[in-house]
Amino acid sequence: MLQKILQELKTSNAKLVAVSKTKPIEQILEVYEQGHKIFGENKAFELKEKYEAMPKDIEWHFIGHLQTNKVKYIASFVQLIHAVDSLKLLKEINKQAKKNERVIDCLLQFHIAQEQSKFGLNWDTALELLNSEMFKSFQNIRIVGVMGMATFTENKMQVLQEFQTLKRLYDQLKNDFFVNDVAFKEISMGMSGDYSLAIQEGSTMVRIGSLIFGNRQYN
Ligand SMILES: *Cc1c(COP(=O)(O)O)cnc(C)c1O
Repeated sequence: MLQKILQELKTSNAKLVAVSKTKPIEQILEVYEQGHKIFGENKAFELKEKYEAMPKDIEWHFIGHLQTNKVKYIASFVQLIHAVDSLKLLKEINKQAKKNERVIDCLLQFHIAQEQSKFGLNWDTALELLNSEMFKSFQNIRIVGVMGMATFTENKMQVLQEFQTLKRLYDQLKNDFFVNDVAFKEISMGMSGDYSLAIQEGSTMVRIGSLIFGNRQYN
């Protein structure tokens, strides 16, 4: 399955984040041994434990909602935080990155789905964040793009429109805030059920879990 997905991504140059949350080390190592080195997790402590146990050439991404008090567990090694949705969280990431003498790459998460429960910024709250003096003072974070999650639905048209919304938000931010910033280039969208649609709509990074690792068991 991994090879099939990678083949499909080749035509678009989108990167694959293999979402290994809840999966044991042995299973992640099987994927690593096939040559894949980018993995995503959504629990800070689980990520830290896996980072410590696994080969050090893995690029670890944090993909879910990150609580401010958990940033410290991952700040020394995380390569990309996908879902920044508040100035408060960004402030803490900046602080912990500074402590570790690093710059941490982040994506701004936008709320594009119909569902109430999903986190994320809208255009107005993103503007407020980006225009704030506090944001401008941060020296240990770098915003490299946007991230979004489409509604979990069979309705392809709806998912399509949500991906197009995220692409438009990205284009507008690029134009208004990051026009000369080559690092601002990522659109993280697409999961197991909708990644083909996402790459068609301009995704540069898909986050795929169950298609690679099988369904997750929560207990
Ligand atoms: C779990 C998760 C994924 C992967 O979901 P699958 O449907 O298993 O591919 C992608 N993004 C986020 C933010 C997730 O929490």
